[in-house]
Amino acid sequence: MRVLLVGGGGREHALALGLAGDPAVEALVAAPGNPGIAAVAELREVTPTDPAAVAALAVEVAADLVVIGPEAPLVAGVADAVRAKGIAVFGPSAEAARLEGSKTFAKDVMTAAGVPTARAYTCEDASAVAQALDEFGAPYVVKDDGLAAGKGVVVTDDRAAAERHAAECGRVVIEEYLSGPEVSLFVVTDGEAAVPLLPAQDFKRVGDGDTGPNTGGMGAYAPLPWAPPNLVDDVMRDVVHPTLAELRRRGTPFAGLLYVGLAITPSGPRVIEFNARFGDPETQVVLALLETPLGGLLHAAATGTLGAHPPLRWRDGAAVTVVVAADGYPAGPRTGDVITGADRAGIIHAGTRRDADGTLRSAGGRVLCGTATGPDLAAARDAAYALVRDVELAGSHHRTDIAAAAVDGRITIPG
Ligand code: AMP
Repeated sequence: MRVLLVGGGGREHALALGLAGDPAVEALVAAPGNPGIAAVAELREVTPTDPAAVAALAVEVAADLVVIGPEAPLVAGVADAVRAKGIAVFGPSAEAARLEGSKTFAKDVMTAAGVPTARAYTCEDASAVAQALDEFGAPYVVKDDGLAAGKGVVVTDDRAAAERHAAECGRVVIEEYLSGPEVSLFVVTDGEAAVPLLPAQDFKRVGDGDTGPNTGGMGAYAPLPWAPPNLVDDVMRDVVHPTLAELRRRGTPFAGLLYVGLAITPSGPRVIEFNARFGDPETQVVLALLETPLGGLLHAAATGTLGAHPPLRWRDGAAVTVVVAADGYPAGPRTGDVITGADRAGIIHAGTRRDADGTLRSAGGRVLCGTATGPDLAAARDAAYALVRDVELAGSHHRTDIAAAAVDGRITIPG
């Protein structure tokens, strides 16, 4: 199988490692890729959000499967353009990707499908915003309606800050605050059959103890020792299958990766958000534990044959990833700084570039992450932090408490 992987972040580096490790994948091309991916794939230039360009590249490299990493190409219709060339693609159509591209559309689908989620209003002016904030009370949850790379959400007790964010965004979704630990559940689907991966937890806030602004994600771990034993089965029954059925009913089946972001509230799991692609950095830990060959799994989802795919196999133990972010991230990351200590197994590249002389430099807000597995969560956590300690990047910062509460048994479900 010849595979073209679209994207160039940490998620795509993790996907590239998984695909390259699948004996059925005889050639792996990544576009645009990154210096970490370059170790396992041939890199090609492409604008990932240009449907015609990606489709032409898929034809040129004779891809049997195109795997689309990020959300922006999906929302732009890249999967549709590739499919129109008769090439199998892992990633939903632009229509189905609206599940991520529009918070309002996602709420609509959830309501129609009876999926448990926060009550919400879409608001377009200050008086509607004020009314919704009054109704729900603090903490206030205000979400930009469009794609915002995980940074369009403000959760705050500060009424003025909530109103300011709403005014800056224009069209927002304001919703009820959901309390409880968060879970990311990835589901591989061909539109009908659906296979859950291991649940993971990510860390959205920039600072230790969940302080500071939201980011794309500062770390993750899997599996979740504190999760209720029937969590995955319940979410598949109450969330995933009803959502997939509703999208089929609308004539826009969702095939690809359905990312279900949940809060485990006192009244059970509630959906915080859907995404239409693998999450970053949870992919790094989930795929580190997946033993089943990744190419075959994604190909089955892309070709409507997932129902016949064998059950997944997982490695024992746990995985932890810790993101190293650039000075100034998330507000205004500085790029171009020299990185040392990053060319080793377990370092996943996210925002890096390499000079002609081989010097590695930062090229984005989330620069890289240290990903490690271990016989248990404590061991995986120690190993991930050991990797990060050996990386030098001026001004960089990382959280020091990734997976700490889970290791110490401090995560509880309120109620
Ligand atoms: P989203 O982009 O919708 O995942 O939101 C980003 C982060 O904001 C989530 O991971 C949560 O930590 C937080 N968040 C979003 N919606 C809610 C909610 N209704 N209640 C509590 N926290 C939320």
